[in-house]
Amino acid sequence: MKISFHGACREVTGSCTLIESEGVKFLVDCGMFQGEESEKNQKDFSFNPKDIDFVLLTHAHLDHCGRLPKLFMGGFRGRIYSTAPTRDLAEIILLDALKVSRDEGKVFVAPLCTEGDILELMEFFTCLAYEKENKINDSVKIWLRDAGHILGSASFEVLLKENEKEKKLVFSGDLGNSPAPIVRDPELISGADIVFVESTYGNRIHESKEKGKEILKKKIEEVIEKQGILMIPVFAMERTQELLYELNNWVENQEIPYIPVFLDSPLAIKATGIYRNYVDFYDEEARSLIGKGDDLFDFKGLFMINNVSQAGVAEKAIPPKIILAGSGMFQGGKIKSYLKRYLGDSANTLLIISYQSEGSLGRRLINKEKSVEIDGKIIHVKADVLAIFSFSSHADQLALLNWVDAIKNPKPKKVFIVHGEESAGQSLATILKGTTRSDIIVPVYGNKYNI
Ligand SMILES: [Zn+2]
Repeated sequence: MKISFHGACREVTGSCTLIESEGVKFLVDCGMFQGEESEKNQKDFSFNPKDIDFVLLTHAHLDHCGRLPKLFMGGFRGRIYSTAPTRDLAEIILLDALKVSRDEGKVFVAPLCTEGDILELMEFFTCLAYEKENKINDSVKIWLRDAGHILGSASFEVLLKENEKEKKLVFSGDLGNSPAPIVRDPELISGADIVFVESTYGNRIHESKEKGKEILKKKIEEVIEKQGILMIPVFAMERTQELLYELNNWVENQEIPYIPVFLDSPLAIKATGIYRNYVDFYDEEARSLIGKGDDLFDFKGLFMINNVSQAGVAEKAIPPKIILAGSGMFQGGKIKSYLKRYLGDSANTLLIISYQSEGSLGRRLINKEKSVEIDGKIIHVKADVLAIFSFSSHADQLALLNWVDAIKNPKPKKVFIVHGEESAGQSLATILKGTTRSDIIVPVYGNKYNI
């Protein structure tokens, strides 16, 4: 068997792993590089897309599905296996990525790709349920396990037959940060020969969820008192729905005073619509609230800004107010225009709840830089800037270690650590080397292993 790594090595974007074995070639994820690594998207794949038999797609984040159009335009015509929510969310995410690159005058991952091509690509999805055994061909069987990261996210167990011997490969995908509202807890996996585990927060322990919620409540009370604006950059999937879910609970139980909340992200609004279609994928608590007649994503004071005619509504509203806008990593979306307008006022607060990559605007703000450049404009930061990671949809170091540790029967011979910056991956590797007998590897982009 040959294993090669085509992204998310010592970095968090571009997830793509190729497995080649006795006439079968498949990818796990085919994600876009983002931030400083984006130029890698323009490189040709070092394999022929036409030779790929199928793709296992763990979830719909762009850094996991964003190069599927490139694969398709390169001639790939195999099946893409995922859950149904992943398929639906991937469609809006890919169409949005194409639009954003056009609007910003940037070259898309697949320069000739049109909306029509993305819609055609969607026809190649086969949606599978969690837990069930799926026979892909004579040498491959797969199972999807709930990864608890965003709606429909999956870890994959792959049973591969080689020379009449079976090997089990396990791909974590991105693992959730339990307990999280709406999604279920990441499922543990009993055994594997080879494991591929993410390490986004391989060097961090998150604050408790309760503490994070208390901080958010306190910040809401503060902006009400200061008649200020609370800005929260959000990702379209999960973070938005999780915040709406918490705010909905607080408003309906009168745990916070009335304050208008503006959700300014057409993509997040579309994603929320898809969330509504898949109640079966929710955890018990969310399903029971729905059973009692509650709308999880709507409450008094919530305004969704969905089209051009509503533009400017959030700016016109008199403070105090809360603005949730995309994107979580400050790329694209409306958040930057709000930052330009409101960061210079000490009555306002910027609450960062998402991962910010090294060197990014978000990371500079977290590092308390006094002035930052946004779209060529220098902004002197007077607003209160605060980062909390308990709303992260990624497992922290402890949860990652527990997930790997649960794989016992058999214990893995090799563990590849992917999807984490150098320091995060190495930190997780150091602990695993001390606690397991498995061979622990932090691969480099382009590395190939013969096993
Ligand atoms: Zn993800």
